[in-house]
Amino acid sequence: MAAPFPSLLIRADEFVPEGAFARSQAEFLSPDPDLVADLGQLLEEKNAGVVAHFYMDPELQGVLTACPWPHIRISDSLLMADSAIAMATAGIQNIIVLGVDFMSENVRAILDAAGHRDVTVYRVAEGPIGCSLAEAATGDAYAAYIDEAAQTENALHVVYINTSLITKAQAHARVPTITCTSSNVVKTILQAATQIDDVEIFYGPDTYMGQNLEELFRSLAELDEEAVRAVHASHTPDTIRALLPRLHHFQQGVCIVHHMFGADVTRRVREDYPEAMVTAHLEVPGEMFALGMEASREGRGVVGSTSNILNFIGERVDAASAENGDGGEAEATRLSFVLGTEAGMITSIVRKVQGQLQAQRAAGGPVVEVEIIFPVASEAIAQTGDDELAVVPGVLAGEGCTVAGGCATCPFMKMNSLDATLDLLKRLGAGGRQSAEGDAELRSYHPKEYAELIDGKSAAELGGESILHMRHFQREGALSDELVGDVKTRCQGRPT
Ligand code: SF4
Repeated sequence: MAAPFPSLLIRADEFVPEGAFARSQAEFLSPDPDLVADLGQLLEEKNAGVVAHFYMDPELQGVLTACPWPHIRISDSLLMADSAIAMATAGIQNIIVLGVDFMSENVRAILDAAGHRDVTVYRVAEGPIGCSLAEAATGDAYAAYIDEAAQTENALHVVYINTSLITKAQAHARVPTITCTSSNVVKTILQAATQIDDVEIFYGPDTYMGQNLEELFRSLAELDEEAVRAVHASHTPDTIRALLPRLHHFQQGVCIVHHMFGADVTRRVREDYPEAMVTAHLEVPGEMFALGMEASREGRGVVGSTSNILNFIGERVDAASAENGDGGEAEATRLSFVLGTEAGMITSIVRKVQGQLQAQRAAGGPVVEVEIIFPVASEAIAQTGDDELAVVPGVLAGEGCTVAGGCATCPFMKMNSLDATLDLLKRLGAGGRQSAEGDAELRSYHPKEYAELIDGKSAAELGGESILHMRHFQREGALSDELVGDVKTRCQGRPT
């Protein structure tokens, strides 16, 4: 058997990391109190809030989660914009987005739409903070995919939020487009099928997620009516079967991080961790997704978004406490989870789980401990910095652990550092108000503006429409009449 995957054991009052990678993650869970105090003081002084993604650098997340300033939120991309609106409504003047560029663009678009144009949004890098999926939707191949959709009757483009605002705008100009996230994509597609007769869904750009959605709907069609209605009340196995031939996905978009959870990793999880529960993000390759689906059917796993993963782990921890009665002398019950997504999730998992374990202990409940297993690709190599031996198999600790080094951390997300955040905050004007001069100096930290016109609207506004369609669906549980009407109108206008 190969060396075990790195893991982190979470107890009510301690963490036990196994392996260099896990040790480096655990180190950041107890941040330097001076750093925490500096961050809190600067945020307050500069009237600034922080919305950060779950995949942030663990060092940064460790400090953020320890900071008592109330305007700090770590979440999935969907909730980042909601948090920004809540902060703006509470009077926050500057919002720092810790994520990649499509996230800050999303936050900017939603703040604008909500009338908070006076709130300034900052990224913490001067240059672009990319994303391999967003990049995949910028080339000729995606343009050709959108062309195909534009020539198809009843086409609805369901675009993953991991794309730039200009991608969304250019697509929406050609095909009615709604943005989705991994937490709402299934319901978005099912809802579209109930409101738009013979809808043809063009999902993109994440190829693995497209394949996984197809597989998920295929499995759903095999379930009984009650199980299907539990997912969407207006659907039956027959309606799902009828939808399958009208689901299309783009073939050339991959998240370089989730790509690491391939056949080799999956085989090792199957063979070496048969008792562990499996969590798999919708972006993982098919093998890992199939394992997650299998585990989910057996009640010991979940496939979905980062929030779904976090909630699943939380529910299992509560269930273990309820099942095991009161405390006493019994041995600890260990729950093991394979983390099938970006490793930065660990900070949010630890904070949630440790809070639950402490509450259980205070209530005299059973002793539960939680093991999080990081399935690192065994083909991983790490750079040693040694001329004689430049690379070695496996991964090194901390920053050596990049995509090039083969483990599940996103190099783009890690462009957001604590130092860069503190530097930016120091450069903001007193009270968070910027002089015109100061604002000009920090221009490169703003999200891209996309002022060019497409069909008489700015690209930012047009791209923002697809996001607003998603938010309407989130709020109302139905697609907007405007979007549904747009599909029908464009269909009627299409030459036959
Ligand atoms: S993990 Fe990184 S590369 Fe993958 S989708 Fe997220 S931002 Fe893009």
